[in-house]
Amino acid sequence: MQVCVYCGSSDGSDASYREQAFELGRRLGAAKIRTVYGGGSVGSMGALADGVLSVDGEIVGILPHFMHELEWGHPGLSRLDVVSDMRVRKEKMLAGSDACIALPGGCGTFEELFEALTLKRLGLWFGAVIVVNTNQFFTPMQKFLQHAVDERFMDIRHGQMWTLVDNTDEVIPAIKQAPQWPRDARKFAAVGSQRKC
Ligand code: AMP
Repeated sequence: MQVCVYCGSSDGSDASYREQAFELGRRLGAAKIRTVYGGGSVGSMGALADGVLSVDGEIVGILPHFMHELEWGHPGLSRLDVVSDMRVRKEKMLAGSDACIALPGGCGTFEELFEALTLKRLGLWFGAVIVVNTNQFFTPMQKFLQHAVDERFMDIRHGQMWTLVDNTDEVIPAIKQAPQWPRDARKFAAVGSQRKC
């Protein structure tokens, strides 16, 4: 199995963010799941990689050329792929992955997570999406997405595209239990014009 992980290039305000990133990496490595991520050495990204490497797991970094030039890549990865730009990086991270996992992060993490959800909604990618709600970080996002459903910009079925978990120990079971995403998802990609009462 291969998963891709999206997470912050910053440490966050609390030590638990780094700890959870390390712990997720350790669990994925111990489970012999190949981890693909953005290749960075700092913040949660670096902690994730260190966690995988701490148990001799396999971690592949995908880094845009300009970040490689800036020496932002983690030096100890199983493999580092340097690609032309951010778009190719995102595509490569997700394409061969059976699931993606989001840990707390900033706009880069949000962009990656929302692209995965968008592709899933359009029936262009079908994997599990697991969102780790460390310190309730993603609770406002969950509410915002529910608001989009309530306002009929998303279908109620789109709420099944991701699974919110509290801790990293729930991630691997959540991947295994994630509902199969319908092959005909495109049929309900857009929400009809029915008005709320
Ligand atoms: P964010 O969640 O905003 O910290 O973004 C995480 C994403 O930021 C990564 O996937 C990268 O695109 C990018 N990024 C920003 N700074 C770095 C860095 N120092 N090393 C690697 N990636 C970085």
